[in-house]
Amino acid sequence: METLRTLPGDDVRQIMWRFADRYDIQMTVQSARSLARTLVARLVAEGARHTHEWTDHKAQLLDAFDSSGLTALFMDPHQGGFIEGPKNLALALVAFELAWVDAGAATCSLATNLALAPIHERGTPDQRDSYMSRCVPPQPGEDRTIIRGAFALTEPLPYVGVETNTLVGKLRVAEWEEGKEPILQVDKRGRFITGMDFANFATCAVDTDDPRIKTSCIVIVEDTDEGLFDRGAPTLKMVHQLSSTRDPVFNLKVPASRIVGGYTVKDGVIVPNYTHSEIIGAVFHRTRVPVALMSTAKLLSAVEPVIRYHRQRFRGGDAQPGTPKFDLGIQQKQDAVLRLAEVWAMGEAGASLGFETARLFDQLDPSEKEKDRIFSEQGIMGPKSQLSALRKVEKQAIELLGLEAQPEGQRDEARIEALKADPLVRYATLEALANILCPACKLWNTGQGANMMREVLALMGGYGITEDCPGFLFYKWTDCQLEATYEGPEAVQRRHLSITMTNEVFLARLRIWIEEFNILAATRPETGAGAVAASMELWLWTLEFLHRAKDPSGARLYHNRRQNVTFPMADALCWVMASRAQVGDVLELAEKGPENPIVAEGLEGTLGFFADLSMVQAARAAGECARVCAQMVYGFGPQDEAELAAFEALRAGIDRATAGAALAKDRAGQALTQVMIPEALDYPQ
Ligand SMILES: Cc1cc2nc3c(=O)[nH]c(=O)nc-3n(C[C@H](O)[C@H](O)[C@H](O)COP(=O)(O)OP(=O)(O)OC[C@H]3O[C@@H](n4cnc5c(N)ncnc54)[C@H](O)[C@@H]3O)c2cc1C
Repeated sequence: METLRTLPGDDVRQIMWRFADRYDIQMTVQSARSLARTLVARLVAEGARHTHEWTDHKAQLLDAFDSSGLTALFMDPHQGGFIEGPKNLALALVAFELAWVDAGAATCSLATNLALAPIHERGTPDQRDSYMSRCVPPQPGEDRTIIRGAFALTEPLPYVGVETNTLVGKLRVAEWEEGKEPILQVDKRGRFITGMDFANFATCAVDTDDPRIKTSCIVIVEDTDEGLFDRGAPTLKMVHQLSSTRDPVFNLKVPASRIVGGYTVKDGVIVPNYTHSEIIGAVFHRTRVPVALMSTAKLLSAVEPVIRYHRQRFRGGDAQPGTPKFDLGIQQKQDAVLRLAEVWAMGEAGASLGFETARLFDQLDPSEKEKDRIFSEQGIMGPKSQLSALRKVEKQAIELLGLEAQPEGQRDEARIEALKADPLVRYATLEALANILCPACKLWNTGQGANMMREVLALMGGYGITEDCPGFLFYKWTDCQLEATYEGPEAVQRRHLSITMTNEVFLARLRIWIEEFNILAATRPETGAGAVAASMELWLWTLEFLHRAKDPSGARLYHNRRQNVTFPMADALCWVMASRAQVGDVLELAEKGPENPIVAEGLEGTLGFFADLSMVQAARAAGECARVCAQMVYGFGPQDEAELAAFEALRAGIDRATAGAALAKDRAGQALTQVMIPEALDYPQ
């Protein structure tokens, strides 16, 4: 039987992650990869990670990011960038490529973008163009120095984490002369602020401490402003050492025009157009996706070094080339290859989920701008009024999803066109999905990714926990924990999901997926689509159950404060979402692979292998989902017998839907014993 011949190359990935027709993105990927496997790998190999201090050695990264084009990637062409339109997928791929070698370097390359993100998402056009173009490296003949930024939300213990509304940083009016622009006093201490060693500006979250300023906001401070711009003590960190982190102190005077998004003056009071939390919501929505993919890159990067290591073990004694002992080493033992297949399967699922989310944001970006334009024309400002206006279009969004799910030829095309032409309907449809996929990939790819990286080290035995461990795997494992923590730790993502996963537009989409995946289960059973369908069905049933069920004290089970219910349900959904995305990528490869001559060669083996991984992962996800749902239904009982019987029938269905998964894992493990790998790792150790 045909099996995987070589590790999947770019042509396969471009199809699966949908950038086969984006030459600009392909070139960016190549730049990031070559930088990762030269300078970044050299820095790690030379021990640059052995200190938390920012050193000249590490600072070489900044010039390299500038000269390779990565610094300018976030900007639009008129600001000095080179990609027109949304860049979420491009940024996600760059983070993935750099994190393949070192995620600290990936973070370092994105730090200024994070600082710019509040300005990009909610800044005035002037703020946007001014800061974005000053952050682009000077072109030949240009007389200016590049500026870099830091993003300062988090404050010293025990105050601000990432989802809190409490801010200690303060904003006051320093001077306000009649007819002139107010001058503001910014007082902010940051904790764990990335890029602080070389930042020239910082976007700081501050609360009002003055009756003449209405709300919190984000304000831009610069190192040339009057007052204190103290970079603070370096963070004594043991992860991501290739990025800079310090605890800065700012006490500065800035003009009011530095309020991100601008302000109006009403009855002698400065009213910022956006509060800090409105801006942060939009920022983290997007920036969490590349972070999720950093952990995923590590799982996939581990495959080759583990195979190499396993094949070379047990060669001592009388092992001769051509014998299984010499050629396969530890790979003769089933467990070694089966566990690696699981690592690979989870890496694929994470990549599918993360890149799907990045692509979704590329669609959402223009749609969100259009929504904002319409709302501002209609005078609907502020998050609360926007939310209630959007509620009204949710019904149409659900109608559109339902119509689109009907078979072509039988559906009302005119109505579909009318609904699709409504930008608010489009926005509501995309946003409901983004609100699930973004926290899901941040939570699942990083948290479960960190757990799975432990398996990777275990597969290297004692070598795995030495400095000689190939592929820098030990560093990669510990780095995952930071990715699971920053931009909102796991609890914050679970909180986000516990609110958004009950959105009716999302639930309507889920019902459609269940139908689609049930059909797929009949036509493409080898992908694991049946297990995904059964998991989605059980999860949805359990969610509905939790809304009607009570505990013995008569209290409702699904409640914001009941994290023993909402959090496990959020986790279960993540497993299923990742598997759903993975099946989608396998189907894409099946459809588009034959059109590409390089991929077409050996496609049967590649596709069979990816389908096996997808099935393995779907069975695992089904198990996790079923376990959580069972805990919900039985754990808060006693419940009505009829409810339990209905649940048991669905749960039995889930188990049955994983039929063949162990065989798929056997095949995937076997493929790992035969796949060709390059002679040597492609970056220095
Ligand atoms: C190296 C590094 C770089 C960083 N870079 C930046 C940066 O550039 N800019 C910036 O602003 N910040 C930055 N941070 C800060 C980072 O975003 C925060 O550390 C992170 O979001 C977690 O917040 P916290 O440390 O305050 O955790 P806490 O809020 O103290 O949370 C601790 C734990 O408490 C639990 N918990 C918290 N909230 C809840 C809840 N609502 N419900 C249930 N449980 C909960 C969770 O288990 C959580 O993990 C960085 C951090 C590090 C370590």
